[in-house]
Amino acid sequence: GQTQYFRDTWAEIDLDALYQNVKTIRDGLPQETNLFAAVKANAYGHGDFQIAKEALKAGAHGLVVALLDEALALRQKGIKAPILVLGLIRPTDAVIAARHHISVPVFQVQWLKEASQAMEGGEPPLKIHVKCDTGMGRIGLKHEEELKEIEQFIQNTAGFEFEGIFTHFSTADQASEEYYQKQLAVFKKFVSVLETVPKYVHAANSAGALCHDDSLFNAVRVGIALYGLCTSQERPTFNKGKQIFSLHTRIVHVKKIQPGECIGYGAAYQAEKEEWIATIPVGYADGWLRKLEGQSVIADGQRADIVGRICMDQTMVRLPHFIPIGTKVTLIGGQETGDFITVEEIAEKLETINYEVTCTINFRVPRIYK
Ligand code: PLP
Repeated sequence: GQTQYFRDTWAEIDLDALYQNVKTIRDGLPQETNLFAAVKANAYGHGDFQIAKEALKAGAHGLVVALLDEALALRQKGIKAPILVLGLIRPTDAVIAARHHISVPVFQVQWLKEASQAMEGGEPPLKIHVKCDTGMGRIGLKHEEELKEIEQFIQNTAGFEFEGIFTHFSTADQASEEYYQKQLAVFKKFVSVLETVPKYVHAANSAGALCHDDSLFNAVRVGIALYGLCTSQERPTFNKGKQIFSLHTRIVHVKKIQPGECIGYGAAYQAEKEEWIATIPVGYADGWLRKLEGQSVIADGQRADIVGRICMDQTMVRLPHFIPIGTKVTLIGGQETGDFITVEEIAEKLETINYEVTCTINFRVPRIYK
């Protein structure tokens, strides 16, 4: 990857804080519960390889990703830990997964048949985690007959290893337990009809793992909590983590404008009095979206409001007083002193969830690891 950058806009990722977050989560789980770190989508925008390495060092047992490509990229960089792909892969790619010791989800008998035909014979067995849809309504089998048929097929066909069974909760972060309990009961029923219980039985995401002791089985798949982001608005029981993501830039231009002068596209902002306006080199092409107009940033330890429309690559800010070119401006996180902008504050402004914020700051913005 690129090691030298020529722009003064960067995301800082605090790996020490990540280590602590993982360790705290690990220490809070029973010894026999394996922690799988969710590093899909480039570790929720934090950078998958660096996060994977640090999370494994801090006690994570394995990794989960969404795509086979994400798993392969980690293998190519030398990650040897167990990796489970969460999304369906093509049956014709089963041989690639097997060759790289990458576990995959299965929930269709037809997929197994096609994968079986595509296998070449010389590769190691394909590790399978059977995915059960207990109420998320996304992917997974829904009937015990399907589970039995899949188990039979795996047991009777060379080239497959029945390594895990799992499900995913859709409401583990909510205050009401009812739907969660229903999903849990359905999953337990699925596990109970198996002839052989596989090595990994897992259901919980962050909210499950941290708010529901009864969801742990012997593995959990934790994402958002690793990054020190709030797992649940309704169940703030676990907020010991520290936000590891921050976003910074530097002022490239400063000017005093007169009452009546306008700023940006559409001349949408008009100054009412003499004002100091700074320009920062970050915009919607970085994932700093136009909807963040009016959001404040931190310049010289103080809040300053974004004024005018956010451009593709630049944004204008109204300063509380003159601040020189080159001064660091923080858009997410904090500076040495002063205020702090949480990922949740940005999420609220964008009318979305914290997950979407770090994923949206794209990789035109270099990630710097501290
Ligand atoms: N498991 C599955 C199947 C997921 O899709 C996800 C993420 O969406 C996770 C685990 C991790 O969830 P969280 O980031 O809420 O811990």
